[in-house]
Amino acid sequence: RVRTRFAPSPTGFIHLGNIRSALYPWAFARHEQGDFILRIEDTDLERSSQEAVDVILEGMKWLALDIDEGPFYQMQRMDRYKAVLAELQAKGLVYPCYMSQEELDALRERQMANKENPRYDGTWRPEPGKVLPPVPTGVQPVLRFKTPQTGVVAWDDKCKGRVEFQNSELDDLVIARPDGTPTYNFCVCVDDMDMGITHVIRGDDHVNNTPRQIHIFEALGASIPVFAHLPTVLNEQGEKMSKRRGAKAVTQYRDDGFLADAVVNYLARLGWSHGDDELFSREQFIEWFDLDHLGSSAGRFDEAKMRWVNAQHIKALADAELARLVTPFVIQAGVSEAQLNADDRLVRIVALFKDRCETLVDLANWVRLFYTDAVVRNADDEAKHLTAEAQPVLDAFAAAIDGLGDWSKDAIAATIKAVLKEQGVKMPQLAMPVRVLTLGTAHTPSVDAVLELLGKEKILARLQKR
Ligand code: GLU
Repeated sequence: RVRTRFAPSPTGFIHLGNIRSALYPWAFARHEQGDFILRIEDTDLERSSQEAVDVILEGMKWLALDIDEGPFYQMQRMDRYKAVLAELQAKGLVYPCYMSQEELDALRERQMANKENPRYDGTWRPEPGKVLPPVPTGVQPVLRFKTPQTGVVAWDDKCKGRVEFQNSELDDLVIARPDGTPTYNFCVCVDDMDMGITHVIRGDDHVNNTPRQIHIFEALGASIPVFAHLPTVLNEQGEKMSKRRGAKAVTQYRDDGFLADAVVNYLARLGWSHGDDELFSREQFIEWFDLDHLGSSAGRFDEAKMRWVNAQHIKALADAELARLVTPFVIQAGVSEAQLNADDRLVRIVALFKDRCETLVDLANWVRLFYTDAVVRNADDEAKHLTAEAQPVLDAFAAAIDGLGDWSKDAIAATIKAVLKEQGVKMPQLAMPVRVLTLGTAHTPSVDAVLELLGKEKILARLQKR
């Protein structure tokens, strides 16, 4: 059974580039009817925060990346790591190292001066027949992992192909600090082993950890998972996406009116492809996702493109569902629930405007105009269409609307026609100023449909404010 995980470090707010590392293992688990596990790697106490955890959980909930097990927290598993460490120590696979920081620094300087890569020289590594230096008093040792010194360590990466490291390039990794706390690479391996992870899908900033982790898995007697190291997501400037460089928290996109399915669709394609398919549903994504079509070059985040994808998803949604999704945004924009529940207009307004919105916020801004009187008129449209010649036409139209008994789109269309005829003007000479007065802009759907939904009272009040 396939078991994947997302293992974020809660150090800073998770952005879209990070969450893609959740999307792929989630999709793979769903595709394979396996399990998806969430593990919070919170051992960096200085940099981890509850707020960052909350954004991870909220972001995943919003994007509906449902988890089967977890969240697990590494800080709550310390006893387990220490127990496994003790087993390795008992087997002689780790050893205490008493080299002080000063000695390490001096070693490093000598190696750099000789143009060698700085690495631990194995002073405290026990070998048959080797005499170790005398143990200094009052020094708490670190524990180092006995790494093979010859041969290669290699794996077939689902993104990068065959990756090989010479063991001679790896030194003996510190796996426990002087106070006994285990270090990062060790905890990851114990977790992946205990959680039965079969596929590790993560950012390629971890490629250099992988040979070390493979050695640790081997020492633990655990099976080695399949690895896929995803290329970084770049920002619009082509740099690695980061909060420092202005990347927004995932939840910001929720608040800005993006649809979860649209964001999933957009992110899915930043590193994976299914032919030329650009727009797809969550169900299609799960059906299609595999590890064989992961890209090997970095995807570049493009917000304009994501807005376009969002617009397509908004357009494709059923009206009732869209009305449900836009409701909190409409309330946010100042309309009360009671107003929305007073009649059935919301679904019809949504249907009329959904093909001209990039986000739910855009849509809510249209909807708001049907319930509140806060119309802000576009100055250019005003100057162009609210001319002196328009005044008598608007007067005649207001009078005709006022006298209208049958309130339907057809009746309104007939009224418009009659006024055009009587005033001897063409459609735009009436429709444009009416649009600007009623909705604040000349760019609206067909005027009879808008007016029907707006209602007589609001139309007359707005036609008066010239
Ligand atoms: N905690 C690591 C990170 O946030 C991920 C570790 C892993 O996936 O193995 O970069």
